[in-house]
Amino acid sequence: MNTTSLEEDIPMEKTFFAHICEQYFYSSEWLTFTVFIYVTFELVFWSYNLFLVYIEYHDIPMFEKYRIQKRKPKLRFQPEIILEIRNETIKHQLSLIFTLSLIYPLLNLNGHVSVRSPIPPLLTILWQIIACLLTEDFIFYWTHYLFHTRLLYKYIHKQHHIFKQPTGFVSVLAHPLESIFQNQLGVWLAPFLIKDKHIFTLCLWIAIRVYQTINAHSGYDLPYISPQYYFPWLLSGTLQHDYHHQHSNMNYGSFLTIWDRLMGTHKIQKDE
Ligand SMILES: [Zn+2]
Ligand SMILES: [Zn+2]
Repeated sequence: MNTTSLEEDIPMEKTFFAHICEQYFYSSEWLTFTVFIYVTFELVFWSYNLFLVYIEYHDIPMFEKYRIQKRKPKLRFQPEIILEIRNETIKHQLSLIFTLSLIYPLLNLNGHVSVRSPIPPLLTILWQIIACLLTEDFIFYWTHYLFHTRLLYKYIHKQHHIFKQPTGFVSVLAHPLESIFQNQLGVWLAPFLIKDKHIFTLCLWIAIRVYQTINAHSGYDLPYISPQYYFPWLLSGTLQHDYHHQHSNMNYGSFLTIWDRLMGTHKIQKDE
């Protein structure tokens, strides 16, 4: 019954994103994209961070044994740091709305972000996510490496390094120039270069990236829920980034250990 000619004549059933776009966002693809990316970010950001707040305040032995900087008191005994994290998080949450509203028109300068078309095949999603991950890892390593040169560190990157004992919220707290050139550029460069991109793939990519960076800043080397638990030889993780915050050097990568291993900047040390 469903011949090709009939399929061409009958209008296609509306996809989930097309329905949401028309029903709730005045048929604006820009608004649909911005809200979906924002909600994806916030869902991952708050669920992982609230989990970390819970284990910070409840001293659960099952989690305590995975805390990395055991010699230092927990953050809840350092009210000035908690206050700093709270104030900076509020600022970040407000600036995020502005930043994300610019992404859709920027991505459309090269190709088009599909909002109404069906979700792409699994293989397309897979290669695009891998391309995003490899590009982000490259940009992050080298911009981060540069931000550790004397002047850039002093005037820009030091703001991220005031947190010697990181926790999930710290992952997004940085000087605006660092946020743009290290974080946003790394995340959005591959989606910009890929001409045919879909809102679903980009939401998935944002979820992966936010999860990765909160995990790296969590302060706990947790098994099972940490990707590096499964591939410690390939993936950079909490131990590496925690060391980076403690010593302000080494381990400049985000997802992978490849650049750190190639450049001789890979190091892990656990505080027992
Ligand atoms: Zn960091
Ligand atoms: Zn750094």
